[in-house]
Amino acid sequence: MKLVLASGNAGKLREFSALFATHFAAQRVELLSQKELGVTEAEETGMTFEANAILKARNACAQTGLPALADDSGLEVDALQGEPGVFSARFAAPEDGFGSGDAANNAKLLQALEGVPDDLRTARFRCVLVYMRSADDPQPQIFEGSWEGRILTAAEGEGGFGYDPLFFVPSEGCASASLSRERKNELSHRGQAIRELLADWRP
Ligand code: IMP
Repeated sequence: MKLVLASGNAGKLREFSALFATHFAAQRVELLSQKELGVTEAEETGMTFEANAILKARNACAQTGLPALADDSGLEVDALQGEPGVFSARFAAPEDGFGSGDAANNAKLLQALEGVPDDLRTARFRCVLVYMRSADDPQPQIFEGSWEGRILTAAEGEGGFGYDPLFFVPSEGCASASLSRERKNELSHRGQAIRELLADWRP
């Protein structure tokens, strides 16, 4: 069966293709990127990860006529009432003097939490995966993961991406940027959601 991944990220396509090949060999899933199918990206106007993942999956279904898989993820910081949330990738902006991209997002987060004591710096990464059989599928399948941690006062570690240098993982005693890729997959929001999908996906 053919399935479209509603993401332009080549790394995600490789990762999901490998997982489907291993876990769903019988279904012979061929995962296609929405980019290669000429899909124009959905506007992420939702206020929740679920809403945005559904918007992306529905958009890919509508433009290709194929079933679609979409993901959305981000960081929720309690002291910021859940921000940056669905705006995680675009938290900092040139207008507010930080520029944009991971380094700018991290700088803005540190400034927003200046003076906030350790015990109030709690946060979590969340990931939602959505599978839809068609654009009007009344029962999108939703798989979720959530990873609790705390925001550090300075960046740490060399690996990962995004907010990993600032995300302290209590069980490991270090930032998620200091974890091996394998260990991060075992613990992370995305790893959890993917394992749920692998356990419960119904084509
Ligand atoms: P997306 O869902 O891949 O678009 O991710 C949204 C944003 O959330 C990313 O740009 C990162 O800023 C942040 N994010 C999501 N997952 C992670 C993670 O595992 N580590 C660090 N940052 C993440």
